[in-house]
Amino acid sequence: MVLRVTILDGYTDEPAGLGVPPYIDVYPRYAAGAIWYHDKQAVIRYFTIDEARSKWAEFYRSASESQLTLIIAGVVVPGKYLGGTPISPREIINVGLTLASLPTKSILAGPAAMFGMGIEGGSVAYHPKDLGKHYDFVVKGDIDVFLHNMLSLGEEHANPLERRRSYDMTDKFAVLGAKIVTQHPNYGYNLMVELETYRGCSRWFTGGCSFCVEPLYGKPISRNPENVLLEIRELYMLGVRGFRFGRQADFLVYGANLEKGDEYPKPNVTFMEYFLKHARQIAPDALIHIDNVNPATIAKNQEESTKVLQMTAYYLSPGNVAALGLESADEKVIRTNNLNTTPEESLLAIEIINRVGGERGENGLPRLLPGINFVLGLPGETKETYYKNIEFLEMLKKKKLMVRRINIRKVLVLPFTKLSLIWNEKILVKHDEYAKWFTWKVRHDYDPFFLSIVAPKGTILRNVYVEKTEDNLTYARQMGSYPITIEIPKKIEKPCILDIRVLRHKGRSVIGEPVTHCSKAG
Ligand code: SF4
Repeated sequence: MVLRVTILDGYTDEPAGLGVPPYIDVYPRYAAGAIWYHDKQAVIRYFTIDEARSKWAEFYRSASESQLTLIIAGVVVPGKYLGGTPISPREIINVGLTLASLPTKSILAGPAAMFGMGIEGGSVAYHPKDLGKHYDFVVKGDIDVFLHNMLSLGEEHANPLERRRSYDMTDKFAVLGAKIVTQHPNYGYNLMVELETYRGCSRWFTGGCSFCVEPLYGKPISRNPENVLLEIRELYMLGVRGFRFGRQADFLVYGANLEKGDEYPKPNVTFMEYFLKHARQIAPDALIHIDNVNPATIAKNQEESTKVLQMTAYYLSPGNVAALGLESADEKVIRTNNLNTTPEESLLAIEIINRVGGERGENGLPRLLPGINFVLGLPGETKETYYKNIEFLEMLKKKKLMVRRINIRKVLVLPFTKLSLIWNEKILVKHDEYAKWFTWKVRHDYDPFFLSIVAPKGTILRNVYVEKTEDNLTYARQMGSYPITIEIPKKIEKPCILDIRVLRHKGRSVIGEPVTHCSKAG
């Protein structure tokens, strides 16, 4: 009998991993790979949640004809996305209820199954047991490991909590499952594929930052670079032209010795030169970006980090962003939460990245820029914390340093983290007014300032993809790690790829006018 599987991608967004269109994350690819590893002939239908909403009968029919239906979900903090609307907690429950009436085994996987979903005063609002109450399996471990065990040993031997201890099998699944991307609605247009290089954090033995789940994985495990390159080759041959090395705590230390108990290992320059050079050779015309970088790595290992950043700027694509987890500029918060870096180190990292990546590339943007992440509501926070955060941004502004984007999020207290033992809702409530003031200041003062130096008036942004049209307004973005949203005050239907001139700035977006006609991806 032919094995039939339906995958519903409800989208995922985690600190290290994005799967909201135009991105596809690793979960559906690894899952598809584990299924095809077991049965080459298996028929897998992939739906995004947006497709399932608009073609519900088709999704329903596919699920009812499938032996397995897998729901991947977990935008831990609900937000607005230009590329799609993630599955809501209510939808997860309802889909589970629908599947329970069908002759299919239902599986809930992804961050929603691991941690739950939604934030309410800092803590998770929907727990996995509520979200998964109608599902046959709620997989809190790795979905590829679970499927592999289920299909090869039988469901009674598949432990939903099991995590991979190495990438040996996952590397195979990654290549085998790559072709699921051809079913993604953004395939052939602006699809970005999230790539994983390692899991865990070099600070694992200190317990890491209070709020973070990475140290809970224990000693980091890394992928063999040859296998990451094989995966890129496979995806590239399938037609993928957008990649991001987004699944790791700190891209700079991929290939470094992460296990030996050094909190801030030196980047492995020779390894990274080999890796980046070959990634570029395999995908010569693809857009390749990165994501998280630890500012302390740069500050504590300036020579090696500068070299790897130079290679990143050289081999990878312009408009690239190294997202730096400053989290707080307040020493007291840093100490209380065992955070990884100080404001001084972050400043140094921002200066180095500006120096290395500030030159403008062929798409109109600087080659490599820093992004900054803040977390609000951490223990130790006082109203002074907010002033210190502003002081830090003010200093960057005075120095005219380029920052691509400032990410602000309220702390999310995930189970089993150190934070879950020491956090108290009063912290958020007490400083609510300051949090609002800080966010307002950033959005109305610092965002427009930084955007005006990153993409000044008159900048030509090349290869911009139309994503959404509303009345007489079109939203478009380049492909990339944190692409700038461009509003074009006229109606342009997608698919359309064009060049845009920046006319003015509007908060975190720019207003632009087309300077070329539309072309379509081929
Ligand atoms: S440095 Fe902190 S936030 Fe980053 S991965 Fe490690 S523990 Fe998590």
